[in-house]
Amino acid sequence: MALSEFQLIDRVFAARAAARADVSLGIGDDAALLSVPAGMELAVAIDGLHAGIHFPEDTDPKAIGHKALAVNLSDLAAMGADPAWATLFLSLPHPDETFASHFADGFFSLAERFGVALVGGDTVRGPLCAVVQAHGFVPAGEALRRSGARPGDGIYVTGTLGDAGAGLGVVQGRLDIAAPDGDFLRNRLDYPEARLRTGRALRGVASAAIDVSDGILSDLGHILSQSGVGGRIEIGCLPRSEVLLRTLPEPDGINLALSAGDDYELCFTVAADHEPRLQSLAEGLECPITRIGRIESESGLRLIGPDGRIYACDGSGYDHFKGTDNGRDDGDH
Ligand code: ADP
Ligand code: MG
Repeated sequence: MALSEFQLIDRVFAARAAARADVSLGIGDDAALLSVPAGMELAVAIDGLHAGIHFPEDTDPKAIGHKALAVNLSDLAAMGADPAWATLFLSLPHPDETFASHFADGFFSLAERFGVALVGGDTVRGPLCAVVQAHGFVPAGEALRRSGARPGDGIYVTGTLGDAGAGLGVVQGRLDIAAPDGDFLRNRLDYPEARLRTGRALRGVASAAIDVSDGILSDLGHILSQSGVGGRIEIGCLPRSEVLLRTLPEPDGINLALSAGDDYELCFTVAADHEPRLQSLAEGLECPITRIGRIESESGLRLIGPDGRIYACDGSGYDHFKGTDNGRDDGDH
C-alpha cells in the first residue's frame, strides 16, 4: 500500500525504534539529542548501499535492511567501538509499506541484537538506496586504528574469507553451485555478521584493525600503507569455509579468499607479546580467528604458497569476473 512519507516514517520506523537512556530525543523532531558518556570518544561511520551496485536488484528487502546496518556496525567493530545509535537515509522508488516493513524487519532485528537505537533519518522518493550512519562509543584513546601495525606483529582474520564473493557469483549465474551450498554462500553475501564482540575484545590487544569489505589484499593493504610497513601472507593459512573448499577448485577458491569483497570479517594485527593473550581470548569470541601471516619492515605484501615460494596473484581478483566489471561496478565500500 502506498503511504505518505510521514505515515511511512511513523508506522515503519518510529514505531520500532528502541529507547536508550542516552537518547534524550529520537525520531520526530528536526534533530536527535544524544549524550556521549564521560570518558568515551564517539566513533561515527557511514556507508550506503545502492541497488545493482552494492546488492543485486533481486535482493530480499529484509536482507537489504540487515546489510545496510551490518556494514556500518562492521566499521564500528573494526574500531573496537560499542554501537549505540543509527540514522537512516532511505530512498524508495515507491512509498511501499510492504517493502519498507520487510526492510525494517532486517534492520531492526540486527539493531535489537546489539542494542542500537534508530534516532533519525530521511525518507525520500528516488532510486532504491539505503545509507546508514552508525555511532558508537570507545574509551578515549583505545580505538583500533589502521596505522598501528609494527614489524613482527601477527596478521589475523576472523571467520572465513571468499564466501560472499562466491555468493555473488551464484547470484549472477557465473558460478553454478546448487542448494544448500549455493544458499549458504548467498546468505553470506546478504547477511554479513558484524564482528562486534571481537572488535571490542581486541581493544588493548590488537595493534591495528580494519574490516574486510573489499577483499583481504586491498584491506590489509590499507593497514600496511597507513602503518608504513609490509608483510607476508601464507596462502595455505587463509581460512575458507567447508562449502567454499568443496565447491570451488583451486586456484579460484584461494583467489576469491584473497580478492573478493563483502565478507565483513575483521583483519587485525597483534604484537608477538600480546599473542598469548589473544589465544586466551579466542574461545570467548563469536567466531574462530586465524593467523594468516606476519608484518615485516620491507614494504609491500608478499604472498607465500604452500611450497614456500612466492604465490603469483595479480591482485585484481577472481578470473571468472574478468570482463564483467569484476562482478560489481563500484570497487569500494
Ligand atoms: P526534516 O524535514 O526536519 O528533516 P523529516 O520530515 O524529514 O524532518 O523527518 C521527520 C522525522 O523523522 C525526523 O526526526 C527524522 O529524523 C525522522 N526520519 C525520517 N526518515 C527516517 C527514517 N528512514 N528512519 C528514521 N527516522 C527517520
Ligand atoms: Mg528530512
